[in-house]
Amino acid sequence: MARIVMKFGGTSVAGLDRIRNVAGRVKREVDAGNQVAVVVSAMAGETNKLLGWCQALSALHDAREYDAVVATGEQVTAGLLAIALQEVGVEARSWQGWQIPIQTDNAHGKARIREIDGSDLIKRMGMGHVAVVTGFQGIAPNRRITTLGRGGSDTSAVALAAALKADRCDIYTDVDGVYTTDPRIVPSARRLDRIAYEEMLELASVGAKVLQTRSVELAMNEHVRVRVLSSFQDLPVDAETGTLVVDEDEIVEKQMVAGIAYSRDDAKITVRRVPDRPGIAATIFGALAAQNVNVDMIVQNIAADSTTDMTFTVSKADLPRARMALQEVKPAINYIELLEDPNVAKISVVGVGMRSHAGVANTMFRALADKAINIEVISTSEIKVSVLIAAEYTELAVRALHTAYGLDVA
Ligand code: ADP
Ligand code: ASP
Ligand code: MG
Repeated sequence: MARIVMKFGGTSVAGLDRIRNVAGRVKREVDAGNQVAVVVSAMAGETNKLLGWCQALSALHDAREYDAVVATGEQVTAGLLAIALQEVGVEARSWQGWQIPIQTDNAHGKARIREIDGSDLIKRMGMGHVAVVTGFQGIAPNRRITTLGRGGSDTSAVALAAALKADRCDIYTDVDGVYTTDPRIVPSARRLDRIAYEEMLELASVGAKVLQTRSVELAMNEHVRVRVLSSFQDLPVDAETGTLVVDEDEIVEKQMVAGIAYSRDDAKITVRRVPDRPGIAATIFGALAAQNVNVDMIVQNIAADSTTDMTFTVSKADLPRARMALQEVKPAINYIELLEDPNVAKISVVGVGMRSHAGVANTMFRALADKAINIEVISTSEIKVSVLIAAEYTELAVRALHTAYGLDVA
């Protein structure tokens, strides 16, 4: 007997048939003698629809009301799944974030979970009841509803698994595991049996949407055993199914590169021809930080006339606020013009093997050059190399790199 958390994403609960399928999978685990808590997302497309309504009414809408609106998608699926479970003879009830409670900070739209009191759920699970919990949402100290950022149900599931001291956290989605890259754009991508927390964390943070970044961070810190598997694959599920996220030393055959990710969520900004003197970077990035704009990649080019171009990326959603902040500091730093380019993509290769192998970045630059793809910005970390390119070459670049690192299925 084990205590498990099962999480089902949007496509896995996209309609009543899918919800019945989920109920069947949960029942199987219950019948096997396991204690089960389930975390559900909103039906596929639902969160986008709700968010669209907020935007249509107001571009700069109140983030607290945004949360009140978008959190409803998960309420629907939790209730429906509880009904479907009761229908197949499993005792179940739905739990919204505030009812448990899942306590978060008050950063509306991107709240962090602070604490989950699992005692009530543990007691009921001990009686054989299934708890169906709304993903993506919690309650702030001021008792308003919060949401955890897009893809946040993964984080709800891992946090709940930690709070319940669950033996494992199974993340059911529409692919049968974590692949060497997004299998939807590279059909020859390979499923990984295991991936190290650190690699998964890095891949998620540079765009691999299969797990939300914060869920991996939490799993790593709380030692939650996370498995990614498909709710569309035929039963039965056994210990070998899907991809297990594990400590690095549990992986015997270490590859130099574990995977490749892409993101089209960023925009490039260039502040043209600012004087090349101390304090310029501090002024530019200070103004952005004051507006809560995160800056990712940065490059500076110094010209012969002792001016410099400062190029960097911010998330597309932050572009209006970044523009405003930079216009405000124009008198202080005297730049000639501000250029914006939203048609860029960030392509990243990730692998713990990079710590001990030289030449990873060079292979990347060579493969892109062979396809005549221009690199606009480069950034590196211990286990990652990222480049910024024109968005139209995203697929071409990912496929070329997948081949260059020998990741294609044989
Ligand atoms: P869910 O709604 O179940 O949370 P998501 O759409 O958030 O599902 O995540 C699953 C998707 O992640 C897959 O359909 C796939 O296109 C994408 N994806 C991106 N990178 C990877 C990868 N390296 N391995 C597997 N899937 C990936
Ligand atoms: N429904 C939310 C979203 O679409 C949370 C999730 O699916 O994980 O972002
Ligand atoms: Mg997701």
